[in-house]
Amino acid sequence: MEREVTVDGLSCREIFELLSAYLDAELPPGLCTRLSAHIEGCGPCVEFVESLRRAIELFRGFEGRETPPPLSEEAREKLRLAYAGVIDATDQSNLESPLGKVVE
Ligand SMILES: [Zn+2]
Repeated sequence: MEREVTVDGLSCREIFELLSAYLDAELPPGLCTRLSAHIEGCGPCVEFVESLRRAIELFRGFEGRETPPPLSEEAREKLRLAYAGVIDATDQSNLESPLGKVVE
């Protein structure tokens, strides 16, 4: 039996897909709002986005560019793997208590 965390009609997996687009700067503004709504209501996504933000700053450096160049394929692959890890951890535990609680 498979269950997914769904907030505002978006599952964590969909968020993952959207974040990939976001990293490519291809995300439509409307979706960006829904993405934020999901992330705010979803513990695993909050934690991931926090690490994602830090990673992006590291990858892009602090050059103060208005429009930073897209992340390299390698950098994006690392972020994908990181997110896949978050999703896996979520799948293996009770989705109603993501991260923080250990259900035995
Ligand atoms: Zn989520």
